[in-house]
Amino acid sequence: MHILVTNDDGVTAPGLLALAQAMQTFGKVSILAPDRNWSASGHVKTLHRPLRIQTVTLADGTGALACDGAPSDCVAMAKMGLINEKIDLVVSGINPGPNMGHDVTYSGTVTAAMEAVISGIPGIAVSFGEFSDSYDFSVAGAIAQTIVRTIANRLEPEMLLNVNVPARSLDTIQGIRITRLGLRVYRDALDKRLDPRGRPYYWIGGEEPTGVPDNGSDFGAIAGGYVSITPLQLDLTAYPIAQKLSTWEWANS
Ligand code: MN
Repeated sequence: MHILVTNDDGVTAPGLLALAQAMQTFGKVSILAPDRNWSASGHVKTLHRPLRIQTVTLADGTGALACDGAPSDCVAMAKMGLINEKIDLVVSGINPGPNMGHDVTYSGTVTAAMEAVISGIPGIAVSFGEFSDSYDFSVAGAIAQTIVRTIANRLEPEMLLNVNVPARSLDTIQGIRITRLGLRVYRDALDKRLDPRGRPYYWIGGEEPTGVPDNGSDFGAIAGGYVSITPLQLDLTAYPIAQKLSTWEWANS
């Protein structure tokens, strides 16, 4: 199996190295990742400037490609011929922080996996589902191995899995739950400051987000110490609303 490993934290991130090492068990690994941090960059297609590629060496001596585009650009470029050999699976991560609930619309980690599915390749995004000061990436790497080992012979081109791993030791993880996206509660606050010339500038600050730990949701699984796997799809159609709208008489303009 040929796996493309990418991330949104940049090619030097320890999570990328741990994920690449974990995926080497399954055959050939190619690495193409952004040359800087693109966290919370959403789904990007860079069309208005050139994209450049550098060859780099990871901390363990593994060769990788770094790109000055977004995570989704990396995946698209790999598929469009930057990497010659057919790619069977794209794995993105390991993100040092949760990508649950509404986070998936902001996440570079998840949108890299989404881009894989748009390119006709199954994609997996791997993140830690809890905030922590000291992540053990080998834990999420081992979980990623378990998942890839289980699905390797059952891959479908539209398979898009959003994985969040509890930030705890492997032997205290309770198991794996298949979940739905839960409800994220953001606590963002606008922080207004003044520059040296007295002009205001802004930071989006505030406290770390929380979530509603409903049963069956990604937040519920993580709260219980389980790995959360949420299968996603790119069809964002709101079918119940479409159903309602289709019965409405449209007002004359
Ligand atoms: Mn990130």
